[in-house]
Amino acid sequence: KPEIEAQDPELFAAINREADRQQHNIELIASENIVSDAVRAAQGSILTNKYAEGYPGKRYYGGCEFIDQIEQLAIDRAKDLFGAEYANVQPHSGSQANAAAYSAFIKPGDKILGMDLNAGGHLTHGAKVSFSGTFYQSVSYGVDAKTERLDYDKIREIALKEKPQIIVAGASAYSRIIDWQKFRDIADEVGAFLMVDMAHIAGLVATGLHPSPVGIADVVTTTTHKTLRGPRGGLILSQEKYAKQLNFAVFPQNQGGPLEHVIAGKAVAFGEALKPEFETYSKQVIKNAQAMAEVFENEPDLHVVSGGTDNHLMTIDLTQTGLNGKEVQNLLDGVFITTNKEAIPDEKLSPFKTSGIRLGTPAITTRGFKEDDAKQVAHLIIKAIHNSENQAVLDEIKESVFNLTKNHPI
Ligand code: PLP
Repeated sequence: KPEIEAQDPELFAAINREADRQQHNIELIASENIVSDAVRAAQGSILTNKYAEGYPGKRYYGGCEFIDQIEQLAIDRAKDLFGAEYANVQPHSGSQANAAAYSAFIKPGDKILGMDLNAGGHLTHGAKVSFSGTFYQSVSYGVDAKTERLDYDKIREIALKEKPQIIVAGASAYSRIIDWQKFRDIADEVGAFLMVDMAHIAGLVATGLHPSPVGIADVVTTTTHKTLRGPRGGLILSQEKYAKQLNFAVFPQNQGGPLEHVIAGKAVAFGEALKPEFETYSKQVIKNAQAMAEVFENEPDLHVVSGGTDNHLMTIDLTQTGLNGKEVQNLLDGVFITTNKEAIPDEKLSPFKTSGIRLGTPAITTRGFKEDDAKQVAHLIIKAIHNSENQAVLDEIKESVFNLTKNHPI
């Protein structure tokens, strides 16, 4: 942007370096994506100038008549996209959507049953370092040691023993379809609310490629920036009967003024997701992930947790390679492939090392990678892992990465 260049060359240079990094790196962080120019334009618009505490039609500030139209558009599109009775588009992030969902349904000191961080859960599902494990009691479920999938009988057993007030389904690193109804049945049996955090798979849910939790869970939370390909932010969906308590939980309980420029970006993204092209894109996201997973599964010293993927991501178990997650993340950074270290089920190493890496295809698919490209990326990762000390081979990999990104510009 010329305005930034003229006024703040130092910042401009740093943004340019980041733009260059995004252009030339293969982005495999499963929670990232590349938004459209329209989403970015909405986020960078004059809407950032406006305070609008409250909700459309009921604001604490004057001058909100057009802001109301914008927020209402986002709400209506979110409801339409997910077939929900109620939508709150104000949460600043996924974590704040979760904070508000807890506030709406449980009291401090009540008990959350969520997925363990090591098994693929999110910090806000009850991890001790998060508000969710500090303000609330928390207990967790994991995956079956053998299948590395959710074991609903085991979850039921834990729920019966622990009697949580709320059960959280959903994950940050789980590559299989989640059976929401099974969670509903467990929640009903123990008298708990059911919250689904579909942050990772929201785009797949929107396009019918993963079963929807809307209408099954009491409350569904999500981020808007992962598979959904919108601006960074959060969203809450629920039933009309919970509208009042959820609105109150977001504002004034957990937030102040909504970020209307981001909400405008959400409206743009929801509009994009309602188009047929988004379904084509989402199908390709899964095809690419499955193509990659197959390559890794055929490699004797690598293992895809649970044996494959039904969605946009996978966790690769590196235990047999002699390298840990941090080392592989750094190794791949060196050849311009961006990933993140990830705990595997029954993790033995610290969260700063871990025994796995998590890979996802939303961003590469947005820039046009197809199955053959995805397979090539998997082969490049394997080659790097097997030649971590061989600079000549690592240089060859960099060259291949450069060509792949050049063929698919952002
Ligand atoms: N929920 C899940 C399942 C996530 O994976 C994440 C982020 O990765 C979040 C919530 C939190 O979102 P945010 O980073 O916007 O707070």
